Amino acid sequence: MATATNGHGVDLDWLSEKIDYRRFQDCIHCGLCTASCPTYVENGDENDSPRGRIYLMRGVVDGRLGFSDAVREHLNLCLDCRACESACPSGVQYGKLIEPFKVALQNSAPAGQRPSLLQRLILTQLFPYANRVKLSLQPARLFQKWGLLDWFEKVGLTKLLPPTVRRLQSMLPTLAPKAAAPLPEVLPPVGPKRARVALFLGCVADAMFPETNAATARVLQHNGCEVVVPEGQVCCGAIHYHSGYEKPAIDLARANMAMFNPDDYDAIIVNAAGCGAMFKDYAHFLPDEDHVAATKFVSKVKDISEFLVTLGPIRPTHEIAQKVTYHDACHLCHGQQVRSQPRQLLGMIPGIELVPLEESEICCGAAGTYNLTQPEMSERLGRRKMDRIDDTGAESVVTGNVGCILQIARKVKERGRDITVEHPIDLLDRAYGDLPT
Ligand code: SF4
Ligand code: SF4
Repeated sequence: MATATNGHGVDLDWLSEKIDYRRFQDCIHCGLCTASCPTYVENGDENDSPRGRIYLMRGVVDGRLGFSDAVREHLNLCLDCRACESACPSGVQYGKLIEPFKVALQNSAPAGQRPSLLQRLILTQLFPYANRVKLSLQPARLFQKWGLLDWFEKVGLTKLLPPTVRRLQSMLPTLAPKAAAPLPEVLPPVGPKRARVALFLGCVADAMFPETNAATARVLQHNGCEVVVPEGQVCCGAIHYHSGYEKPAIDLARANMAMFNPDDYDAIIVNAAGCGAMFKDYAHFLPDEDHVAATKFVSKVKDISEFLVTLGPIRPTHEIAQKVTYHDACHLCHGQQVRSQPRQLLGMIPGIELVPLEESEICCGAAGTYNLTQPEMSERLGRRKMDRIDDTGAESVVTGNVGCILQIARKVKERGRDITVEHPIDLLDRAYGDLPT
């Protein structure tokens, strides 16, 4: 059977299957979303606003527009941060429009506009596999230990690296001298058992910040949870899906649903905003035959802060005398509507002075792999975020997503500031102190 196109060569069969046309009609063109859109705030171009992009996408589906270079550029520049969803009074589910479009753009990209082979390999064959990332970090770990990375930078040797690798290298956190030992499969609760939970470790997060996963497990133990770390868990699929590779994302989602049986746990805990939002989206993006299982799985998925506040967190007793500011990761505040819970947990820590961050909900420019695919806008947003952080005078920035931690830490380093960047759970873990022996 011939494929239906929109008169400009765009495959309409696939887009119509993925997008409910009524979602376009939800938009009443009021423009209330524009002030919250990071790309519009930066460049003032209506085509780079949510309203403008909805108009472009609807134009494609209606057959008025094709995937011209300009249309591609405006849609590709979207961070998929979903700030527009939070701002929209009409309930437009923008993510459900742009995400299928990102896949369609990827699948139809002309030769010169596709990600390079190196970018594709990094996105699809390295990042989603924690063991491969861990292995690839070994040389960097040694170079850091011997002080060679800073020296390479100083003498300009890193300029010889391909731009994508150079960017990745510039985002490397300070790695622990030795790779972390894997967490045991079951960790017991401290005191009477209040819940049995499964912990999702992630891929890049587990390779770069294994101590945050260990801290998450300890915080859960302190709160009376038996923590299970299921073996065989895989990447949530967000990296593939947001890069336009739908089939591998579906395979990864199905593998995770098989590993985390929702009947066995009170909650499936995620500490990375991007992975949590992806998990919570499984029922939407998976094919219809997975819908029942995905809905059940999604009902148990909780961000760590969301879960602890619902459970009733045990008050930590160790003082941390620090001026701290909180950056809302897009996929936590807009993707999951989790805003107050991390602040509530931080507010419980004795000694912490929590100061507000202006434009806290504006994306820092990390946005998954956006900093690799759209480096210029990513840089602008990174600088903007750092300006706001500087205004707070905080000694520490906390945020619940690994991508934001890497992006903000890079900016902190570039400006030579003495500011710690970490996950709120790292602070909470220190405030609880060691586990009783
Ligand atoms: S706020 Fe909502 S309804 Fe208004 S223009 Fe933006 S997306 Fe459309
Ligand atoms: S998802 Fe973010 S970048 Fe994209 S249109 Fe909405 S607010 Fe703008």
